[in-house]
Amino acid sequence: MSLDFPGHTWLPHDGRRHAYPGAKRSDGDVVTLFCRLSVPVATYPLEGPEWLWPECDVCHVLVGECATRREWAARERRATLHAYGDRPPCREGYRRC
Ligand SMILES: [Zn+2]
Repeated sequence: MSLDFPGHTWLPHDGRRHAYPGAKRSDGDVVTLFCRLSVPVATYPLEGPEWLWPECDVCHVLVGECATRREWAARERRATLHAYGDRPPCREGYRRC
């Protein structure tokens, strides 16, 4: 399911785990982190110690806000979908709503 709000990608850098909006970019691409630092993308092995670094405070807060907006959008989408048994939308051929 695609969502209206882009995800984020965590990126260890200089002793902390930061994040940038969107999907993972190629190594060497320079990205702007949520905390406004510009750093080159690097890939770290999942078992690497970099993934145990503490999260950057700014990135942590902004990633949480993105997740909240995604949840809100998903909830709104479900609320506006017609469930089985709902009255059909107004279309030519249907009785006037
Ligand atoms: Zn950061």
